[in-house]
Amino acid sequence: MRTGQINVQTENIFPIIKKFLYSDHEIFLRELVSNAVDASQKLKVLSSNGEFKGELGDLKVEVILDSEAKTLTIRDRGIGMTADEIDKYINQIAFSGAEEFVQQYKGKEGAEQIIGHFGLGFYSGFMVAEKVQIRTLSRHEGSQAVQWESNGSPEYTITEIEKDFRGTDIVLYIAEESKEFLEKARVSDILNKYCKFLPIPVFFGNKTEYIDSPEGEKDENGKVKRIAIEVPNQINNTNPAWTKAPVDLNDEDYKNFYRELYPMTFEEPLFHIHLNVDYPFNLTGILYFPKIKENVEVQRNKINLYSNQVFITDSVAEIVPEFLTLLHGVIDSPDIPLNVSRSYLQSDGNVKKISSHITKKVADKLAEMFKKDRKDFEAKWNDLQVFVQYGMLSEDKFAEKAKTFSLLKNTADEYFTLEEYKEKVAAIQTDKDNKVVFLYTNNQEEQFSFVKKAKDRGYDVLHLDGPLAPHWIQKIEQTLENVSFARVDADTLDKLIKKTDEIPSKLSKEDEEKLKPVFENSVNKEKFTIQFESMSEDDAPIIITQPEFIRRMMEQQRMGGGFYGAFPEMYNMVVNANHPKISNLLVKEEGTREETVKQLTDLALLAQGMLKGEALNRFIERNIEHIA
Ligand code: ADP
Repeated sequence: MRTGQINVQTENIFPIIKKFLYSDHEIFLRELVSNAVDASQKLKVLSSNGEFKGELGDLKVEVILDSEAKTLTIRDRGIGMTADEIDKYINQIAFSGAEEFVQQYKGKEGAEQIIGHFGLGFYSGFMVAEKVQIRTLSRHEGSQAVQWESNGSPEYTITEIEKDFRGTDIVLYIAEESKEFLEKARVSDILNKYCKFLPIPVFFGNKTEYIDSPEGEKDENGKVKRIAIEVPNQINNTNPAWTKAPVDLNDEDYKNFYRELYPMTFEEPLFHIHLNVDYPFNLTGILYFPKIKENVEVQRNKINLYSNQVFITDSVAEIVPEFLTLLHGVIDSPDIPLNVSRSYLQSDGNVKKISSHITKKVADKLAEMFKKDRKDFEAKWNDLQVFVQYGMLSEDKFAEKAKTFSLLKNTADEYFTLEEYKEKVAAIQTDKDNKVVFLYTNNQEEQFSFVKKAKDRGYDVLHLDGPLAPHWIQKIEQTLENVSFARVDADTLDKLIKKTDEIPSKLSKEDEEKLKPVFENSVNKEKFTIQFESMSEDDAPIIITQPEFIRRMMEQQRMGGGFYGAFPEMYNMVVNANHPKISNLLVKEEGTREETVKQLTDLALLAQGMLKGEALNRFIERNIEHIA
């Protein structure tokens, strides 16, 4: 046995490790299991290039929980280490990465957010253990097995030991304050989170004891084989779908993988994109399009970021554009730097390239689907709309491509691209200023009478709903030349699409002056502005509208959470000067005139679903009385 000092300049680095990685203690397991997997894969490589001539045997990693001894052991049958190698890899250089890291981030904000992986891998075990042993037998023939041991101070001991088989055991003596990592369920959860798709089989179980093989079977060294009493479970799938070639996968395989990723989600994805790039950066992955519901917030953060099949994080907001965080699936790239702060990530060249690559792929996929099977694309549009609109609003490059496949649906359930629709309605819906007006409703039930009037006049009406529609409309008005959107209830039809010829009014200015106060007295003056318009005789006597700009303002305030409430709810009460019932008011006696106006305004409010509570009750009682 010999003792030595781990080569650290910083006096005692362990408190620093604990502090920096505080929020994420559990990653020690990811680090140690990844090392074990690396050691196994390195041996495979050495074997295939002839440098290692022995038997590979069953290359697996075991995580063994011993609650009596209070240890957690990570065991591999990989390359192992000689005493010299321990010296070189563990004692000498282990801290060079950490040193640098500590210097760089000392006292800086955001340091605690840093994801592991800065060459501290092995030492992260000290976040949870009061003592760590490395028990290892190198792949080299005739090697002496050794044990390295340290209690977290920079001192260590190295001892020669007996070890039956090649590879490394990392034995963690779990500290009292970290005893959660001796609970099977907790360890199992961590493994499931980080190690689910590692490329070497990983087993986990309570394996407190081994027994000698009952038949006295001997192993390759002539020693009696030791057999585990409890058979542990394999916790990973070593060949997840994203590592395979797309040609080797069918639709069912992709769906199965989705279920594997999200066992608690019952909804099926709409479709997927298989990413596979190896130049100028490495990236594989599968992205799924979920059916997006009204509430876009709860659907985020379902993309899992992996690095060589090791789970890193499910918060990818710094790596992909915001709208893509609505997608689900996996991105695996060893080229995304993991040892830097999150704000730095966004400015990293590789990350930028990855981000625009993914955006392009997603846009191309949608364009291709639209081209290949338009009917199918239309069928999916309801579920896609929010995603596409979000993308168009937030990424100009995406918006540019999406112009060709972004669809409009009319009230007859027909779909059009923006250009197709413009062409369709231009002939009759162009106003005197040469603007093509796209009429739309967001609720066919509530705006029924408006929709009907528009259609009766030969106009087409779009159905546009969804949480992003108000913003998206604004965006399209800026990009499509000479197009404006108007909701059918924003004004009277003649005003929505202004043509040159005006209908003469049957009421004189004096008549209007005379009638205006009667109308004002029948409704809440603060909320309704009374306007007389010369409309067609067939139009309703009174129409309640909400100006497009007021409504958009309110909608946007609501979405942004901002000053909603500061802006009062306001409507126009448009009186049709040419309707016979209106001109008739002039010849009516006082009293009867007021009653008639009340009846007309109540009916207009009722048509809009705006007559409520006491007012509705009075209306009903009054009408019952009038029934003979
Ligand atoms: P990193 O893995 O980032 O290089 P670590 O501190 O995790 O940093 O490990 C340092 C080195 O120790 C590794 O590069 C490897 O050479 C060696 N090592 C760690 N774990 C094992 C293991 N289970 N088997 C063989 N070698 C190992």
